[in-house]
Amino acid sequence: MASEFVFAPPATVSVPVAGHAARFPVHRIYCVGRNYEDHAKEMGFTGREPPFFFMKPTDALVVVDEGQTGTMAYPSLTKNLHHEIELVVAIGTGGKNILAADAHKHIYGYAVGLDMTRRDLQGEMKKQGRPWDIGKGFEQSAPIGPIVPVAQAGDAENAEISLQVNGTDRQRSTVSKLIWNVAETIEHLSAAWELQPGDLIYSGTPEGVAAVVSGDTLVGAVAGLPTLTVKIA
Ligand code: MN
Repeated sequence: MASEFVFAPPATVSVPVAGHAARFPVHRIYCVGRNYEDHAKEMGFTGREPPFFFMKPTDALVVVDEGQTGTMAYPSLTKNLHHEIELVVAIGTGGKNILAADAHKHIYGYAVGLDMTRRDLQGEMKKQGRPWDIGKGFEQSAPIGPIVPVAQAGDAENAEISLQVNGTDRQRSTVSKLIWNVAETIEHLSAAWELQPGDLIYSGTPEGVAAVVSGDTLVGAVAGLPTLTVKIA
């Protein structure tokens, strides 16, 4: 007899794949902190530190189909909701202790993502030496566009990355400025956790993070990938 549950289990969280009917089922969402030098500086840090990671729950995703505008509710408790535009790496083949030289064999594709942050709450937790979850891991904190398989994604790891709010540039850089590039990030991450198919890695944001308010429209781009458009409700 099939297993029964005391209430309906949540649906599998998944992201559309450009050009495919089948979707990418999500396992975990890892994020890299302070991975562009000029962003580390604007957050009050300098120099190259070892990469560090935090996670968001899978139901933080706001999945936005190509050509559509997603909606993110302005979250509770904060008065300083920040945007962070990021290249997202989608893992297709898991593994642990993956060497940077082998890392690309594990990548399924790339997407454009936003690591939305309750900066005031994150700052308070930092000050107190407490976990960042309340600042980073809340509902709808991780908008994402379609995943593009590696073969169709162009040179995403050297592409221009940008974010406009209401048509005005806020962030503009190139992914090649990552302090820890995608392969190095996978090496470090897979030393700490065994990567699984379905893992997403938000690779870090360049400088220019700032607040958004209800009614703002965010347009995030990584050249060669579908644009991500999100309106703050
Ligand atoms: Mn981030």
